[in-house]
Amino acid sequence: MANSIVFFSDLKSGRCTSVVEARLLRFWEARNVKRGGELMWMDLLMVDVNGTMMQATISAGRLPEYRGRLIAGSMFTLSGFDVSRAAQNFRLTDSSLMIRFSDMTSFKELPAPVSPLPEEAFRFRNQSELVGLANTSTQLPDVVGEILCVKSTVSDPPEEKNRVMVTMKLDSDETITLSLFDSQAVAFHKQLEAMQVDPKVMVATSINPKMVGGRLFLNATSGTHVYFDKATRAGEVLFYQLVTRDTGLPSVAPLLRSYAKVETMSIAELTSFIVSAATQEIDFLCTGRVVHVDAGRGWCYVACSKCSKKLERSASAFTCVRCNNSHAVGALRYRVEMAICDDTGEATFVWFDGVMAKLHSLRASEAAQMLAEDGVNPEDTGLPPFIAEMEGKTYTFQVRVTAFNFTEHHRTFTITRVAEEHGRLPVDAVINNGGNDDEDDDDPSDETGGKAPDGDEDAGDSASAGGTGSSGKARRNTGAGPSEGVKKSRVV
Ligand SMILES: [Zn+2]
Repeated sequence: MANSIVFFSDLKSGRCTSVVEARLLRFWEARNVKRGGELMWMDLLMVDVNGTMMQATISAGRLPEYRGRLIAGSMFTLSGFDVSRAAQNFRLTDSSLMIRFSDMTSFKELPAPVSPLPEEAFRFRNQSELVGLANTSTQLPDVVGEILCVKSTVSDPPEEKNRVMVTMKLDSDETITLSLFDSQAVAFHKQLEAMQVDPKVMVATSINPKMVGGRLFLNATSGTHVYFDKATRAGEVLFYQLVTRDTGLPSVAPLLRSYAKVETMSIAELTSFIVSAATQEIDFLCTGRVVHVDAGRGWCYVACSKCSKKLERSASAFTCVRCNNSHAVGALRYRVEMAICDDTGEATFVWFDGVMAKLHSLRASEAAQMLAEDGVNPEDTGLPPFIAEMEGKTYTFQVRVTAFNFTEHHRTFTITRVAEEHGRLPVDAVINNGGNDDEDDDDPSDETGGKAPDGDEDAGDSASAGGTGSSGKARRNTGAGPSEGVKKSRVV
């Protein structure tokens, strides 16, 4: 070969006829999600003898010619390619250039390089560097850290939307959350499931750092590759550090846990779930303090006793649009919004009828009687004192995240169960959630006559969105001990 050998750092924009020797580190497909996942190109990351990393791309049209030769870890000579400027956003390497395969590109496996090529190359960033990069969309760095916990929504067989959240500890004592989505989440989940022993260390490449609620979150990208324990040198070093430090105590629980079992989540994690994720219905446990009860949004509404949708007032009666009934029977239901915080963040939560009634052992209609004022509709009265007094108290509650939470400008989370103030959620305390779970919470005694105001807020819609799929679990225990108390309690 007459062509001279050059390094990645020698490259300049334009056609390159010299030869580079490099190792193929990893590669992945770039697909257009907006066009049915159509393959656009293949991204490659390579490293040369100096440890310089270079991004390369092969267009979909040229890919068949090279596809069979793309093997991670193998060594190649490369020549006859184009060099151009890399995009300024989401940079995969420190170089400002990238390589494009052309019609003239020679890409040949190299059994023995002139000089030894590095086995691996990463662009690790520590916690504070990641914070500096967060939300800038400039770099997709790599991380290495200790795996503390994994939460997964992947079921067997996997459903449409999937997500895995890995709690990791990097260099500092703070933990960060790395999220993987869809097919990457499924692959990660299966990989972990297949392992005999839970891994301790993880290397994750090309991640996108984000700050949410003052906390660092890392989102996987299409270029993200994951390596456990000793699969990389970098991981191995940390692995042995951790092993040396190991107390020898048995691990507390298997690493892989499922959201389906109702995981505890911080409010920041919950918010991040909304910011970056899939629309699926999942329950989490949260503990938080009520910062503020939003009195401006009222505390109750008049619902159709048949379908639970918020009723509209006509001249002298209630109309249910859904039931197409101009003389619907109304039932007063709680609906209260609160700002709740923990030490990671704050979010808005909605308490619907069943949960609020259970917590205070008082129905909305009974509360309305307590507050009754002449000529004022129940919805227009001030907050019942027992609701106002929730401010400053801490509760442990279950939250359902549904598609509904993602579509609103006004983001709220639906509370589906609650432990009385700060405490453990009773195992069998799943209650009928009223507004969330409509049909079996009818009670003619809740009838409020013809006095519902017009409302700009469609509480009925949100209630029904929250209610889908909630029924099985919620209804199973209806009528069991805890909820009996609600039915029987009355204002004296
Ligand atoms: Zn109705």
